[in-house]
Amino acid sequence: MADAPQHQAAPVARIHHLPPAVVERIAAGEVIERPASVVRELLENALDAGATAIRVELRAGGLRLIRVVDDGAGIAREDLPLAVAPHATSKVASLADLTDIRTLGFRGEALASIAAVAELEIASSANDGGLAAVLTATPDGEVLFSAAARARGTTVTAGDLFAAVPARQAVLRGPRGEATRALAVVRAYALAHPDVSFTLISDGVLTLQTHGTGLQAAVTAIYGADARAALLPLGPTAADDATITGGIAARAFSFAGREHVVIAVNRRPVANRGLLAAAEAGYRPLLRKGRHPLLIVNLTIPPERLDPNVHPAKAEVLLRDEAAIAAALRAAVHAALGAAPLMAGADTAGLGPRPVQLRLPAPRRRRGLRIADRASQGYSARPEPADAAGVDTTGLTAIGQFDDSLILARSAAGSLYLVDQHRLHERALYEQLKQRAPALTGSGSPSAAGQHEDDAVAGSHQLLLEPVLVELTPQQAVRLAHRAHELAGLGLGCQPFGGSVFLIRTLPEVPGGAQPLAAWAAELARAAAEDTDDWLDYLCISLACRSAIRRGDPLSPGEQQRLLDQLDRLTAPAVCPHGSPLLLRLSASYLTRTFEW
Ligand code: ADP
Ligand code: MG
Repeated sequence: MADAPQHQAAPVARIHHLPPAVVERIAAGEVIERPASVVRELLENALDAGATAIRVELRAGGLRLIRVVDDGAGIAREDLPLAVAPHATSKVASLADLTDIRTLGFRGEALASIAAVAELEIASSANDGGLAAVLTATPDGEVLFSAAARARGTTVTAGDLFAAVPARQAVLRGPRGEATRALAVVRAYALAHPDVSFTLISDGVLTLQTHGTGLQAAVTAIYGADARAALLPLGPTAADDATITGGIAARAFSFAGREHVVIAVNRRPVANRGLLAAAEAGYRPLLRKGRHPLLIVNLTIPPERLDPNVHPAKAEVLLRDEAAIAAALRAAVHAALGAAPLMAGADTAGLGPRPVQLRLPAPRRRRGLRIADRASQGYSARPEPADAAGVDTTGLTAIGQFDDSLILARSAAGSLYLVDQHRLHERALYEQLKQRAPALTGSGSPSAAGQHEDDAVAGSHQLLLEPVLVELTPQQAVRLAHRAHELAGLGLGCQPFGGSVFLIRTLPEVPGGAQPLAAWAAELARAAAEDTDDWLDYLCISLACRSAIRRGDPLSPGEQQRLLDQLDRLTAPAVCPHGSPLLLRLSASYLTRTFEW
């Protein structure tokens, strides 16, 4: 992590015009599209100046006024005019610098672009003399200088944004919509820079405040104690010379949209499709359909592996060897979420100082927030924060069965576990099926394919005494016919029988599965005909679900133990294939606290 860029108390850097050769290499395009773009640029400038506390004020969603106040290094008085000149910056000087960008800004364009569409005022002090130089610039090019009292740091104010650009005004959303977007920007930077204190005041209302005391505190301040309690650590995971850290809160704290998935590369929140897709591929199989977590990913990577100069608003970066990093991200997210049991805990005491209670994200988002009704699950306990000891699911010893549905178990560390027998078995069968499946569909590695081919063909299906007729929609029929070969490899033998009717003659044999599958032949065929690239996953889930021990099945002590022993081998031992939790943990310390032992 020696290469991690740091944004700390920088000495005052002098500003210069970029040479034409560098200007030519800079991604051109519209930098300032809406108030949120201004907020983003001004936050980046404050962070680059090493600010430890940043305050953002908005009026009318930023359309009337955006003000960002920082306690950073400030701008030298003589440099103020250069700060608003296009392609003038203190952050890069040569072409070589463009391949080794360690600051959030590097193009020297933001302030100039803001000055072109707003009334801009910059008050900055680069020393402890208590006096700031003030520059005022109007879109028509008028520039005034004055002075004001101010401690070290910079205040940038942009007023009446786009007042003279009617075309731009037409595509804006109005104060509420713009305020929501600006809030999302501040939130993302506050999460990506949890050691800096952020304050957002919107139309006089304190909307967000973090204290610069780390990620957990920032999550608590922004999302509340429930999110903090549900927050699981992500990583640290190494992928070559990159490191992934962060946190994820899901299940009891999840959203209908992706707006709380924040991926920061070297502390720059980005919208890289590849990384977002990888993160989602990590959590999607572990959450209920359509739910998204609160996810904060901090990817630290040597600057030379990274090109932030590909997008005019710097919203995307280009990563060398992105595929490897994406794979590591996917695995890290999957591991963090898949291994964490539900926790029963007393309360959120001991979480550190209570946050100043703040308004949560805009009401529209709030609606997407789902705090599970724990009472309705039969557990009135609140979750306790995950700790390093939170995952001790290996080596569980069965104690007994509750209502023929939950296995009670003890962990080596003395936790009491309640294990949903159906979901655990389902997870175990599903993972076995998935291991076999890639070889069958040819998407696995060649060696794996060779290794599994024999057992796949030999004895992996059961012949149905009576073939089952399944009527599908024409679209389903086309897809099923298309996949018939792969399905045969899995043991699902189906033949077209005229029109969109199929004849099912064999079904996959699920090793360790208990239920006869014939009754579900139609359901399996439909899962296999799903209109998605994930059809194989659907089929495996369906197979696992239908073959698994059910709630209500009595189990002998030996059967209970054999089921628990499977936990050790699972990649996501805490979550069933449908994304529901399967383990509830009552830690030894929770029991001690609760019973006042
Ligand atoms: P860039 O950030 O790409 O250099 P900007 O137009 O955003 O371009 O800013 C121009 C220059 O003004 C920066 O390089 C920096 O030297 C100075 N500057 C801008 N904002 C601040 C700030 N908040 N604190 C200190 N210096 C600043
Ligand atoms: Mg900048």
